[in-house]
Formats: sequence, structure tokens, C-alpha cells
Amino acid sequence: MKNTKIKFEYKFLLSYLIIGGFWILFSDRALKSLIYDIHYLTVIQTYKGWFYVLASGLLFYAYLRKNLYKIRKAEQKAKKSESLKSAFLQNMSHEIRTPMNGIVGFVELLKSENLSKEQRERYMDIIHKCSNQLLGVVNDVLDLSLIETGNITIERGKVKLNNLLDEVFSSHIETLDNGVQLTLTKCEIIADAELITDEVKLKQILDNLLSNAKKFTSHGKIEFGFERQNRNLLFFVKDSGSGIHPDMIKRIFNRFERAEVETTKLSGGAGLGLAICKGIVTKMGGEIWAESVLGQGTNFYFTLPYLTESDE
Ligand code: ADP
Repeated sequence: MKNTKIKFEYKFLLSYLIIGGFWILFSDRALKSLIYDIHYLTVIQTYKGWFYVLASGLLFYAYLRKNLYKIRKAEQKAKKSESLKSAFLQNMSHEIRTPMNGIVGFVELLKSENLSKEQRERYMDIIHKCSNQLLGVVNDVLDLSLIETGNITIERGKVKLNNLLDEVFSSHIETLDNGVQLTLTKCEIIADAELITDEVKLKQILDNLLSNAKKFTSHGKIEFGFERQNRNLLFFVKDSGSGIHPDMIKRIFNRFERAEVETTKLSGGAGLGLAICKGIVTKMGGEIWAESVLGQGTNFYFTLPYLTESDE
């Protein structure tokens, strides 16, 4: 549809001319019919002129201010999204190039004939890890685009929380840094029960939060688990890591946003993980948020409806 909206500068000019025209026309007529003394009339005309300048000035100032505010806000938003986009592209190319270089380099090394069995296995292991890393990046981009286009689907089924959490625990404890302790806290009564939820997506959220916790915690502890809160389950992932600045605590759930560019550059990440978690949790009928003290650690929480077979 054609945009028929009159541009702001035309509106401004038109209103200036119309108000000015009417003012001259009617106020002059009214004055002339009321005042006959020419000297007195000139004085009044001068005051009238000043009044017009003052009133129209104030009116146009308010009008300009309102419109300039909108324009400046839009400009700021565009600049911000432009810088986020270029930071994202930079991160993405880093995130793709690093594992790609690993794969290409180690495949080249594998071609050598005089390699021991151990060396060959180690190289294949690195290639395997790099391929998974690459797959992770591609999956994140696809997931985010599904979320943003509203095409994400939740496939609910019976899930034994106990098994799922144990599985998550075992996979993360293997890759934990020295000096970091991982603990799992379960609400045993519910953990034994079968929950109706999307197992793959629930695991994806926990994996994402735990990977972040590991990335930003070099010593201390990481604790995860859940508890029951009325009709919801409250999941948590708490760490004693670097923490997040209060200004960033809400923004980290936006795509491409990263709290500390320098730190995350060292540890990798394109700023998509939490946006994906938020998209999935929201779609599953829950909420996600974070609390943090800079330098002391971060607690991530998310809720999911507590549905069992009897609710179906
Ligand atoms: P990334 O791939 O960059 O980790 P995420 O969306 O998962 O993207 O996280 C966004 C940002 O939130 C991270 O870059 C980091 O700055 C901050 N963040 C996330 N989790 C933590 C945490 N546990 N401790 C400190 N900062 C975190």
C-alpha cells in the first residue's frame, strides 16, 4: 500500500502558514473594528506581533521536540542494531572459522602415513569435537530463525526428570574445569514422577545454561536442579563465576547481546544461546530470568508448567 502520510517538514510549514495567515487576517480585522486611534493601534499591533512570535515559537518548539525525540530514538536504535549486527558477523565468522580450521588442519595431518595409533585417535577426536562445535553454531542459527518466525514446535511427551537430570549431570561433569564443583539438587518426589514436557528442548535449555556457567566460572561451584512451586517447576543453574553487570542483566536475553565482549571473545560465543533459551521457555509456557552480582556469580532461573499425565 502506498504511504500517504504527510512528511513532518510539510506539516510543520503548512501549520506555520495557516496559523500565521489566520492570525493576521482575523486579529487585524478585530483590532481595526475596536480601536480607531492610529497611535494606540500601532502599539497594540507591536504587542500582537510579539505575542505571535512567542506563542508560535513555543508551539513549534513542543512540536519539533516531540518529533526530534522520535527521530533520535530511531537513529539510536538503528546504530545499536548495526553495531550488534557487525559484532555478530565478526563472532560468527570466528565461531565458524575456528572449528573449520581445526578440521582442515587435522585432516591434513591424518594423511601422514607414519602416525602412531594414539596420534591418529587424538587427531580424530579433535576433528570430531570441531565438527560438533560447527554443528552447534549451525543449529543455533536455525533454532533462532525458527523462534523468530514463530515456527518452533514443542513436542510434549512423558519424561522421567530423574533420568534427564542425571544424563545432563554426567555429560557436563566430564568437561568441567579443575577446581570447579558441579552439584545437582533434585526434588526427589517429583523427579521420580513422569512429567509431560519436551525432553529435547528442556535438555537444550539446561545444556545451554550449564555451558555458559562453565564458560564463566574458573573456580568455585556450579549448582543446578529444580523445585516445585505450585503449578510450576522452577529450574535453576547457579554459578560462582564472573557475574554480569546490572545494566546487562535483561539485555543478555536479546539475540547477539553479550555482557563482556572481551571475556566472551576469549571463551567464544555468538550471543545466541540465551535468546534461544528465552524463545523456547516462553513457547513452553514459562519464564526465564537471571540474578547476578558482578564478580560473585550468576543465578539463572526458568519455570515450566508442572504437567503430569492426569493433566492431559
Ligand atoms: P554466548 O554464546 O555469547 O555465550 P549467550 O546468549 O549464551 O551467548 O549469553 C549471552 C551473554 O550473557 C554472554 O556472552 C555473557 O556475557 C553473558 N552470560 C551468560 N551466562 C553467563 C554466566 N553464567 N555468567 C556470566 N555471564 C554470562
